[in-house]
Amino acid sequence: MMDMHTHTQYSDGIGTIRDNVAEAEKKGLRLIGISDHIHYFTPKRFNAYISEIKRIKEESEITILAGIEANILTTGVDITDDMAKKLDYVIASAHLWPEGINAHLELIKIAIQDDNVDIIGHFGNLFPYTGYPSHGEYLEIVELAEEHGKAFEISSRYRVPELDFIKLCIKRGVKLTFASDAHMPAEVGAIGWSKKVFKKAGGTKDDLLFSELL
Ligand SMILES: [Zn+2]
Ligand SMILES: [Zn+2]
Repeated sequence: MMDMHTHTQYSDGIGTIRDNVAEAEKKGLRLIGISDHIHYFTPKRFNAYISEIKRIKEESEITILAGIEANILTTGVDITDDMAKKLDYVIASAHLWPEGINAHLELIKIAIQDDNVDIIGHFGNLFPYTGYPSHGEYLEIVELAEEHGKAFEISSRYRVPELDFIKLCIKRGVKLTFASDAHMPAEVGAIGWSKKVFKKAGGTKDDLLFSELL
């Protein structure tokens, strides 16, 4: 199985990249993504991150992908073309305190339309504060994601998105990923909720992004 959202000491995690990979190996994952928060990186630190992941890729028997967790801001996603080129994938997450559901969904739409973005992170974790989207609004988001070829993660940390949204993704061919959002090595591979809800929604391997690597 996969865990596409893990943090290390390169941002606010406590383990090293090697620690996260070792835990993934121990838990029998086939694929792990390292996805540190973008705002911790200077250009120099970013290059060190990319080189270290590359080095560990060569030593490990499982597949390791170099990712990042970028922020969706009102001005756009804070990922540059140069950074995206060096990464295997980019997660975009909304971490701004939302000004209501409409403004929040607008942010998500900005990220879906950004060519550098592959996956929308923990979609729905702010709905307890903004109120939940209508079915029509969910449909609009999924259709936009379908059009732009974007995936959504199923976050075991936040237990989002909702089952109905995941069902819509599967129906429209929008890909999904499993995500622990681990901030310590022991949490890597903690994707039980993701797997459970994916199965409940009727998901099969083909509905997963990077299924060819599993
Ligand atoms: Zn996040
Ligand atoms: Zn995260």
